[in-house]
Amino acid sequence: MLPQARPLPNPDSRLSSAAKIKLSMATTASVPPEILAKYEAVIGLEVHVQLLTATKAFCGCANQFGAPPNTNVCPVCLGLPGALPVLNEKAVEYATLASLALNCQVRDRSIFARKNYFYPDLPKGYQISQYDKPLAEHGWIEVPTPAGTKRIGITRLHMEEDAGKSLHDGFPDSATRTYVDLNRCGTPLIEIVSEPDIRTPDEAYEYLTRLKEILLFTGVSDCNMEEGSLRCDANVSVRLRGAEKFGTKAEVKNVNSFRFIRAALEYEIERQIEIIESGGRVVQESRLWNANEGRTYSMRSKEQAHDYRYFPEPDLPPLVLTARLKEEVVKLMPELPEARRKRMIAEYEITEQDAQTLTATRSLADQFESAARAAKNPKRVANLVQSELTSRLKARCLELEQSPITMKGIAFAADLAEEGKLSSKQLKQLFDSAFESGEDFPAVYEREKPQQITDPAAIEKMIDEVIAANPKQVEQYRGGKKTVAAFFVGQVMKLSKGQANPALLNELVTKKLDG
Ligand code: ADP
Ligand code: ZN
Ligand code: MG
Repeated sequence: MLPQARPLPNPDSRLSSAAKIKLSMATTASVPPEILAKYEAVIGLEVHVQLLTATKAFCGCANQFGAPPNTNVCPVCLGLPGALPVLNEKAVEYATLASLALNCQVRDRSIFARKNYFYPDLPKGYQISQYDKPLAEHGWIEVPTPAGTKRIGITRLHMEEDAGKSLHDGFPDSATRTYVDLNRCGTPLIEIVSEPDIRTPDEAYEYLTRLKEILLFTGVSDCNMEEGSLRCDANVSVRLRGAEKFGTKAEVKNVNSFRFIRAALEYEIERQIEIIESGGRVVQESRLWNANEGRTYSMRSKEQAHDYRYFPEPDLPPLVLTARLKEEVVKLMPELPEARRKRMIAEYEITEQDAQTLTATRSLADQFESAARAAKNPKRVANLVQSELTSRLKARCLELEQSPITMKGIAFAADLAEEGKLSSKQLKQLFDSAFESGEDFPAVYEREKPQQITDPAAIEKMIDEVIAANPKQVEQYRGGKKTVAAFFVGQVMKLSKGQANPALLNELVTKKLDG
């Protein structure tokens, strides 16, 4: 059987001297702002997403990241003569689900096509893809922009299979060899192509953020960029503001984070403007982003569709979506992030910002909602997430999933605060302790059992002290400015080192001030 990782001559070692010359000619594009302002960018994004199916698109091999090289392969995904592909129904289900979530019109009958090219990581010599009859078309995503919500069109969403992977680094002889791992061959992908509707790098960033969020909510992909389950090529051109015709585009490849895509686009826009301003012409080509250098450089001239010699895949029948499959897909459709945020804002009386944080992932939103429904005051749960949890996670560079305090724990803490059993200072201390010890609520509360002063006489004594020290504020309060009560509550709380029972304190402050 085939194949262990096989050394091949490293194409990069041959490229590198040419690349070095290009790098040394690099312009550190710095076009004056008034020149930049004359131009407008036109951007279209092509996003490849690996589907989270158990097996590959056309064979029974495991669809699994990180397996030892060349272990998840079979005659079909290796393209051995005589092996025939069989379409994975789950992949169709997921692709259809993504299409509907992205507001696309799904074709009842779509056609697979062969996209032919030669590359060491493509043993068949072609990728099975879709060409002129893709699964879905005419979709859109809404993104926030400074001028309000904007709709970015989705031209098409089609199914295809992934190629293998060339490994250029990490082996002792990597300077002269490239290895090939074919595990990824035949992994089911969807490619989502946007209309050239995007006008700024920020809009591109927003589009990708929303797209990823929708895909994550539908559960069709883990969208893990480090593992390559979401990959984006960015097409960009510039034109004078007001011009109708698009300029010549360059395609930036190999960008592995949304922030880098934004940076690569910023760089590329300036580079193109500089060329035009100095009387040159932008050439249509593929360019590579180099994150270390913070710039793009030319990779190869862009191939045209006809270079691929597309033709209908003779080994697969047309993909016909049955009524049963469509029903299955509709059942799988979750509430999508934007709709969910709107509902959560109304249902729990939380802010837009709260809702944004709390829908970072579907699992977080689920956890929050179950906690919020159990808690006495959902808004307090949201507040604790925003004020106490997020800042501590940020400071420790942790993801929400890694938090010692669960949403259930937060709901518990919120109820204690709601019942006046904890002051906000005590709450903060408990959050600190939890992050130190790794405990959740109620454990951290049970262990620390923060002291509370619940003796009315003791609290009144402190209130008297604060009232005596602040005659001006007392005057304001009695003159009708009732909000000054909060000042007294704060001062007494400070004096009590955060231990006064908040409910009692509130009640007694008003009583004293009114009395
Ligand atoms: P190609 O055939 O070169 O792949 P496509 O027409 O398939 O080009 O478009 C690929 C992507 O490039 C799409 O996302 C599209 O919106 C975008 N695009 C097309 N023309 C331009 C242009 N002039 N400037 C920027 N983006 C463009
Ligand atoms: Zn296989
Ligand atoms: Mg294209």
